[in-house]
Amino acid sequence: MVQVKAIKAFSDNYIWCLSDPTSSQAWVVDPGQAEPVLTYLNQAGLTLAGILVTHHHYDHTDGVAALCEKFVGIDVYGPHNSPFKGITKPLMDADKITVLGTEFTIITTPGHTLDHICYTNPVLAFTGDTLFSGGCGRLFEGTAEQMQHSFDKLKKLPPECEIYCTHEYTQSNLAFALAVEPSNRDLIEYAQWVDIQRQNNQITLPSTLALELKINPFMRTDITGILKRLPETYNPSTKNTLQNNEPWQNFAGLRIWKDHF
Ligand SMILES: [Zn+2]
Repeated sequence: MVQVKAIKAFSDNYIWCLSDPTSSQAWVVDPGQAEPVLTYLNQAGLTLAGILVTHHHYDHTDGVAALCEKFVGIDVYGPHNSPFKGITKPLMDADKITVLGTEFTIITTPGHTLDHICYTNPVLAFTGDTLFSGGCGRLFEGTAEQMQHSFDKLKKLPPECEIYCTHEYTQSNLAFALAVEPSNRDLIEYAQWVDIQRQNNQITLPSTLALELKINPFMRTDITGILKRLPETYNPSTKNTLQNNEPWQNFAGLRIWKDHF
């Protein structure tokens, strides 16, 4: 089975490294920087065999060119509709790829950007800046309706599926989640664990889909009353019908609140 390790980049990014100890080959997901990847590969005795890109933002792609220069001819998978020009193997929704013997199904997840994709299988999913632990990416290019639809696709993964997102945003996401659902016992318990992890400078990832369904407000937009505590100023169009919204309208309200939180 493939191993997954986190390589730290920038202030709070993780570049996930998949490796196969028997072949000493590795792939990385969203290398926004090349140096930390090269250092890690060198220390671990691994050779880079390919790159997976979830979307075009610089902190996910700026290291790709330098890595392709060092490891000539490697594959760079990424969205077919990406403005990022370094992709050699463009992917569409439902495409399947095999990385170090492990198959991944591509899920298109527009919302944070229009080109965003996730790499998924029943055991693990690389969710980039779409699904974070306790939160979701900002809506830079897409709409709340698109992002809700993207989350609906991710919800179909098995509960035990491990969620590998790109940023260590869990602690601040949970501060918001607790404002939404202050009495959610699972959330309170998880937030306590996350606080201890961060105090010790430890990673809080991966999460699991089962956990996200219990604690992530953006995963819970279909729950009656999820917007009970939403300040009306952030969603004036729905202030009189908070209990009767479509999930994507709840998603929009939560996202606007989070943007101002
Ligand atoms: Zn991004």
